Amino acid sequence: MFIDVMCSCCGNHQKLSNKRIADTVDLIHSGWGSCGSALYCPECSKSWKDRNGNRKMADERNTFIVIMNLFFDGKKAEESET
Ligand SMILES: [Zn+2]
Repeated sequence: MFIDVMCSCCGNHQKLSNKRIADTVDLIHSGWGSCGSALYCPECSKSWKDRNGNRKMADERNTFIVIMNLFFDGKKAEESET
């Protein structure tokens, strides 16, 4: 099963498989971040401070949980999307 990890700021998205948890870890290490249940791509994570000032992004633990919740919710990506 694939899900779409979608940036809440710019709509940038990435397909992610639930077959390998390592892919999720790699995705987070590539720069994806979160705040609450919203996910942000590496670019928007970098510019977060410009848009939100002192409001902090969540830690990697939260980002991992948000992505795992997407898997559990079964929000499948369209097969045709890349
Ligand atoms: Zn973005």
